[in-house]
Amino acid sequence: MRHYNIPIFISHFGCPHTCVFCNQVKINGRETDVTCSDIKEIIEEHLKNLPKNSEKEVAFFGGTFTGIDKRIQEQYLATVKPYIDSGLIDGIRLSTRPDYINEKILDLLLKYSVTTIELGVQSLDDEVLSKSERGYRSDIVEAASTLIKSYGFKLGIQIMPGLPGSTKITDYETAEKVAKMKPDMVRIYPTLVINNTKLEKMYYDNEYRPLDLEESIVRVLPIMILFELNNINIIRVGLQPSEDLCEDGVIKAGPFHPAFKETIETEIYGRFLKILDLETLDIVVHEKNISKIVGMNKKNRLFFGKRMSIKKDNDLSLEKIIINKIEYTRKEILTKILECDIL
Ligand code: SF4
Repeated sequence: MRHYNIPIFISHFGCPHTCVFCNQVKINGRETDVTCSDIKEIIEEHLKNLPKNSEKEVAFFGGTFTGIDKRIQEQYLATVKPYIDSGLIDGIRLSTRPDYINEKILDLLLKYSVTTIELGVQSLDDEVLSKSERGYRSDIVEAASTLIKSYGFKLGIQIMPGLPGSTKITDYETAEKVAKMKPDMVRIYPTLVINNTKLEKMYYDNEYRPLDLEESIVRVLPIMILFELNNINIIRVGLQPSEDLCEDGVIKAGPFHPAFKETIETEIYGRFLKILDLETLDIVVHEKNISKIVGMNKKNRLFFGKRMSIKKDNDLSLEKIIINKIEYTRKEILTKILECDIL
C-alpha cells in the first residue's frame, strides 16, 4: 500500500540550543507557530486529495517536537487522535533530538498512537557534536535509540556528513554506529551553509570549509552502501528542491544537488565498471536500470564511450546486471565498491 506523509512544519521558537547549522528564529515567550486549527485544516485538505486506499501518517517535522511545551505537544497529538481512532489516519511520525527522549515522553507518544520517531542525530563523533554545538554526547543517542525501539516505535535517524570537525573517517564511523542501532530508516543531509546561522559566520571567517559536491559524493557513497547492505531504508539524501531552504539566497555554500541520490547511483555503477577494468563492456540490464548505468548527464556513457554497449532485458531482475556474460547482483556490486573504497 502506498504511504503518504501529511507534513506539518512546527517551528520551535523556544529552542534553547544553538546548533551551528540551524537558522531557527528564537522568540522569547513564544513556543511555536502552528495552532490546532491549522493542524485540522492541513489534515482535512490532504484527506480530500489522498487516495482512500493508502497508508497516511501525520508528520510533525521542522523542530524538536518533544522539546516544545508539554501542554502544546498534547494539544497537537489530541487534535490528530480522532482521525486515527476513526481510521482516516494510520499514525503519527515526528522528529526530535536524542536528548529529549525519556520514558515519560515515550509514554505520552504511545498514548497518542505515535508510530515513528525520527532522531536528528547528525553525528556520533563527540568532537563533531561539540564543534557543531549540539549539546549532547554520542552515548545519549545510543540510549535514546534503544529506548525508542524497546517501546516498539519505528526509529528513524538523520545524519549530516560534513559538519565542522568531521572527516571521511568520522562520518563513516557515524554511519557504522547508526547501522548497529538498526534503525528502520535513515535520512542523509550533507551539511549546507544556510543564511543567518553560526555556520555562515564560520564560513565567512574561514573557520569552516563546506564540502564541495565531489567531496560530498565521496563521503556519502560508502555511507549509502553501508546502509543498503544492512537493509536500512534510505528515505532521503539531500534536501528536496521544494523545501523552504532551497529558496533563492538561503543556501550560502555547500554541496546542494536537486537529485543527490541519483548522483550516487551514477557513481556506484561508474565505479564498479572502473573496478572491473575491462576493455569492452557488453552490458545487459532491465530497462529501469539503464539510466543508472548511463549516469546523470550521461557521465558514465561519456567516460566509457564506445567501449560500453547496453542492451535491455526486462526478464532480468532489477537486482542484477550482466557484464560480458557474467551476472552480478546489486549486493555483489555494493560489497566490491565498499571493499575498494579506501577510508
Ligand atoms: S537544530 Fe538545534 S538549534 Fe535548531 S531547533 Fe533543533 S535543537 Fe534547536
